[in-house]
This record gives sequence, structure tokens and C-alpha cells, in this order.
Amino acid sequence: MNPIWRDALAILKERLDAKDFSLWIEPLQVLSAGEGHIQLAVPNKFYENWIRENHLPGLRDSLRQASGFDMEPSFVIQDVARVPGSDMFPERAVAAKRVEAPSAPLAPLSSPEPSAFSFENFIVGPSNRFAFAAAQGASSNPGGTYNPLFIYGGVGLGKTHLLRAVAHYCRNHFPHFNILYMTAEEFTNELISHIRQQRMEDFRAKYRQCDVLLIDDIQFIAGKERTQEEVFHTFNALYVLKKQIVIASDQIPREIPDLDDRLKSRFDWGLLADIQPPETETKVAIIEHKAEELKLKLSGEVAFLIASVPGASVRQIEGLMIRLGMHASLDGMPITPELARKVLKQVQWITDRPVTAEDVIKRVSAYFNVRIQDVKSSQRKKTLTTPRHVAMYLTRQLTSLSYPEIGQAFGGKDHATVMHAERKIRREMEADSALAATIDQLVDMLRN
Ligand code: ADP
Ligand code: MG
Repeated sequence: MNPIWRDALAILKERLDAKDFSLWIEPLQVLSAGEGHIQLAVPNKFYENWIRENHLPGLRDSLRQASGFDMEPSFVIQDVARVPGSDMFPERAVAAKRVEAPSAPLAPLSSPEPSAFSFENFIVGPSNRFAFAAAQGASSNPGGTYNPLFIYGGVGLGKTHLLRAVAHYCRNHFPHFNILYMTAEEFTNELISHIRQQRMEDFRAKYRQCDVLLIDDIQFIAGKERTQEEVFHTFNALYVLKKQIVIASDQIPREIPDLDDRLKSRFDWGLLADIQPPETETKVAIIEHKAEELKLKLSGEVAFLIASVPGASVRQIEGLMIRLGMHASLDGMPITPELARKVLKQVQWITDRPVTAEDVIKRVSAYFNVRIQDVKSSQRKKTLTTPRHVAMYLTRQLTSLSYPEIGQAFGGKDHATVMHAERKIRREMEADSALAATIDQLVDMLRN
């Protein structure tokens, strides 16, 4: 490595936030350096703009310190293959080219609102770097260049986390903003109930008055014509008013089956950012970060063992860590590599047999020693409501059934009841580790 660059890097590393450093500075490659100038390779225009806007003075300064004279950086956009160590995929570079103007840097939070999902607790690696940067871009300049932003990627890889982080950031920095986050399913259910009550005006007004609209899991509206139509009109109205739209999906828009071509093309207007499964190094970093959050003591070896489970998403990794923590605390033992190996062996990530709502209800009833028909009933005894809510929560986690369908399976309850149960259990699990352990155990039983 060029020695001046090496020293400049060391200086920058000291000065910058670790994440900024690894995200923006580390990937730079020196192409040439001479008296008064240095030429750096960047993966795409997006990177170049971002660095120019946010890191140019710092770069100049560190180069001056490292070399003893002024060096002006220039940037060359290089093909991925030709930039060693670059992890930008061509597809992302293409998406990035659509971004012309740079965005404003992210202002630091003065009084952060506590949130489980923020940019601060999102671990960045090559697999999610682009989506992360795009989400930050949309947050710092809502309705600007990154509009609409479409984030897509597999299950459990951090899409919802990023959407919530955008909402969180905007809520803190633009307190007067009207910010709406919802899943496409919630949007659909709300639409249906407004149609039923003939209150479509209220519905439209609500969505058209927002400044930042975040719709999660948009693939849910595939094949639902009326919902798509409403999304389309909402989209147009907000887009014209330069309001920020962020959408997440498990697929790239053009591959979502039964999605209206007009919507596909709308989503294509903006920035498409994908999230790939994390590499082992990123997984290890996420594991270490989660261990801190969960107050688990993990050795590097254990972190690495967990990270090497093939095909595990971040969500599954989290589940695994909770399990490990519970095993260790039950045995009153530290999390040793032996324990980790034992627990890992018990886990089967991929199951072919789909779990049904009936499976869940049966299992949960047996576990709590109550009758199936009572779980499905509407009796409000605590001994029944807990199993009922747990079963609803698990059905939601383990099957692909929608809220109304789950309500149906539980003796004809409405979607709001199921949504309420899911939220309640999720909240209670955070405070009640015994409940979390029970649920974990039930998941295991149902999966195997
Ligand atoms: P998706 O919406 O893509 O299915 P989520 O956003 O719900 O995935 O992520 C699943 C879990 O993994 C969440 O708890 C989230 O906080 C966590 N997670 C995913 N990616 C990261 C990351 N890069 N850093 C920290 N936590 C992450
Ligand atoms: Mg999600």
C-alpha cells in the first residue's frame, strides 16, 4: 500500500466514526499518487458524491499531515472487477448511477429517541452497505434524490430494521414531519375497512398528508388489484409533492408476481438497493454487537461458530444467541464452544414441512395443558388468553398466513385481534425471559 495513503488512513481512522471509516474511506483504492495529487478509485458515482460532500476536507487534511504537502484527491469510477477488494456489485453500481446529486451529511443526533431499530445499531458490511447508505441518504434529505427508495432482499436480513431506522431518524430530525410506517398488509386491511365503512376520503387524506411514507413487505399486495390501485395513486400524489417514499420487499419489483406494470415502473424511478446475506465477517460483527445488547459473554470462537451456520439469516442468528444464553443460564455455565456446538447441532434451520395454524394450536394447547377448542374460543380467562396469544404469535412467525387468515383459524377472530396478540407477545418477550424461553422451545418443537 502507498505509504502516504497508509498514514492518511491511520489519521482518518482516528478521527472518523468507525462506521463512516469502514463505509466510505476504507474501500477507496489508490490508483496513482504524485506531487500535489492523489487519484482514488471509487466503485460508483454515488460513492464519489458522498465522499466529496462529506469527507473531502478530512481527506485533504489527513493527506497533508501524512505527506507534509498539499495533495488534491481526484476520483475515478472503476469497474468493480478492476477495483481490488471492492464489493460493489455491478447491479448496485447501475442503481447508484441514477443518483446524481449528493445528499446532505447526516446530522448527529442531539437527543436520540431510544429505538430498537436505528442506524447506530445496524452493523454495516459489504452485503448491506449500499442499502444502508441509501437509507441514510433518504433520511438526510427526505424527498430528494433517493426517492423513491426501494430496498429488497431475503427474509431476516435487515430491511425492516432499515425502514424503522429511517423513520426514527426523520422523527428526530424533522419533528414536524408526518411519518407513516406500516406493512403492506396493514395498509390493505385499513383500506378494506375504509371501503367497508365508506370512508375512503379519510383514508386518502391520511396517506396523502404524510411527509415520509414507509411501506414494508410490499410483495404482500401482489394480486390484490384494489390495493395496488390505491398504492399507485398514493405514490403519485406523494411523489409529485416530493415526499419521501421508502419501500421494502423480498424481491426486486420487476420480479414480484402479479404486480401491476404501472407500479413496477414507478418503483423503478428511484433507487433500488439490495441486501445480500451477510458474509462471515459481518455475521461475526453482528453477533458481537447483539451479544452486547443481550448482555451475553461470548468468546471469539463461539461468535465464529455461530457465524458459520450455513444459510442462517440475521434473525435466525439472533434466535440462536437467545437460545445459547438460555442454555448457559439454566446450567449456570458460561457459553463455551462445547455448549455452542451442542446447541448448534440441535438446530435445524431449514425445514421442508410447512407448519400449519392447526399444528401450532395443537402444540401450544398441549404445552399449556388447555383444550384446543378453548384456545380457539373467546373466553377471557388468563389461563386461556396467554396460550391463545402465544399461538397466534407463533402462527404468524412460522406460517405465511395473513392476519385475517390466522383470525379465521382461531375460530373466526378479526385481523385486529391477531395483530394485537402478536404485538403483545412481542412486547412481553422483551421483558419476560421465561416467556421468551417458552416460545423458543415451542418453535423448536414445531420445526422438528
Ligand atoms: P427483514 O425485514 O429483512 O426480514 P429485519 O429487519 O426484521 O429483517 O431483521 C431481522 C433481525 O435482524 C432484526 O432484529 C434486526 O435488528 C436484525 N438485523 C438484521 N440486519 C442487521 C444488521 N446489519 N445489524 C444489526 N442487526 C441486524
Ligand atoms: Mg421485515
